[in-house]
Amino acid sequence: MENKINWNFDNSYSRLSDAFKEHIKPVAVKNPELVIINESLAKELDLDLTKINKDKLSSLFTGNTLPEGSNTIAQAYAGHQFGHFTMLGDGRAILIGEHITNSNKRYDIQLKGSGKTSFSRNGDGRAALGPMLREYIVSEAMHNLNIPSTRSLAVAKTGEKIMRDTLLEGAILTRVALSHIRVGTFQYIAARDKKDELELLLNYVINRHYPKLVNSKNKALDLLINLMNKQIDLVVNWMRVGFIHGVMNTDNMSISGETIDYGPCAFMDTYDPKTVFSSIDHMGRYAYCNQPIVTKWNLSRFAECIIPMIDENQKKAIEMATEIINTFEKNYEEKWLEMMKKKLGLLGNHSTDKTLILDLLTWMHQKKADYTNTFCHLMNLDTKTEKIYEEMEFIYWKERWQKRLSTEKKLPKKNLELMKNSNPLVVPRNHKVEKVLNDANENNLEPINRFIKVLDQPFANQKGIEEYQKPSYSNEKYQTFCGT
Ligand code: AMP
Ligand code: MG
Repeated sequence: MENKINWNFDNSYSRLSDAFKEHIKPVAVKNPELVIINESLAKELDLDLTKINKDKLSSLFTGNTLPEGSNTIAQAYAGHQFGHFTMLGDGRAILIGEHITNSNKRYDIQLKGSGKTSFSRNGDGRAALGPMLREYIVSEAMHNLNIPSTRSLAVAKTGEKIMRDTLLEGAILTRVALSHIRVGTFQYIAARDKKDELELLLNYVINRHYPKLVNSKNKALDLLINLMNKQIDLVVNWMRVGFIHGVMNTDNMSISGETIDYGPCAFMDTYDPKTVFSSIDHMGRYAYCNQPIVTKWNLSRFAECIIPMIDENQKKAIEMATEIINTFEKNYEEKWLEMMKKKLGLLGNHSTDKTLILDLLTWMHQKKADYTNTFCHLMNLDTKTEKIYEEMEFIYWKERWQKRLSTEKKLPKKNLELMKNSNPLVVPRNHKVEKVLNDANENNLEPINRFIKVLDQPFANQKGIEEYQKPSYSNEKYQTFCGT
């Protein structure tokens, strides 16, 4: 294909050792048809999609034609899935290449659902339209909520049916990421027990994602510290908006600190720290309140991989890594408190701040208050005041909060600004996601396009968005599934 699009590939990962990947092309699909395209992301990537017609775009975003300069690979990785170590790898995704923008930013362009690879195990290498559109909606919503995330450039149908519980429409998502290197990538290389490969990966990751560490005296240890900070920031952000990842396996933890893998994720409506949506998470391992604990567990698995590079003396290396990992709780709690204070518009530090926050959360839990809408209520931005906010217990709490706010009276505008930048007015609520996906499956794309538009500006007081702000009134427990 002529390069009218402005692709600019430099495929550094594919030049690494063959141990890291398999060279493979996407399997051609029968009848490509573009469903959705992210024009604003295309612009951010300096890609011009306006000069080629829909047929060519469909062919491009299903992998039937490959852009000039691409070098297609499936990446090898391992991972702890629900605590059990497994060899994985891209079983249904192919990295097209690394696109460099005009301002020299590097992004992986990956096709997800593009056919079998040597890592497919029993899978068919394919993906269904519903889950790929779901990933599109939620990943873009996360980005707009100011949370680091992989992005979605396009979804295209393959024109082939795939077998799941029933026959479903096949589709491919074009995923854009800072990279697809995971904790599981380190686990895969560490399991091969070849120090030169591990060093190659470490140096590659530092050059690509943590360039300020290139001259560090102990690159491995500093990488652990930096990754830990990034992952704490990430999980604090998830807690801020009530996001439940649902499958925090080590292969789904990105080294760049982006949210990755939107299989069984969902947003919590009623506040309950034990909320879990995934149909296979029977023990609640990845429940809302467990997310920081799992983040720490995953970081410990990462630390184990890099022990040989921290110090030649294994005992000393373990001690050094443990010391870092042990700072997790304190670090997390500080950042969590800062985040919750912003949600309540609190500046400065008062000894009672934590109690004030915990009392609100306890009340929300007891009264089954909606997580997003409670903060909208506190900003006077709720569309309809729910009865629970008129209860005395809440009114007393509000008085305490307002008293605390009045200690900062000089800055009321700043307080509200803090709240407005932290508390979304709209998130992709589960019932709405399901509704627009059903419509899309029946070829009605208007609802999904409108939903995506609303989610583009979650902090803005948009007109006519009430239907997106309502919690689900269905009593049926919402269930999510690993995206197949
Ligand atoms: P995930 O749950 O998306 O993180 O996937 C876990 C692993 O299963 C990854 O190695 C995927 O590539 C692989 N996988 C998931 N679905 C399929 C499929 N339909 N065909 C082949 N591999 C798959
Ligand atoms: Mg995954």
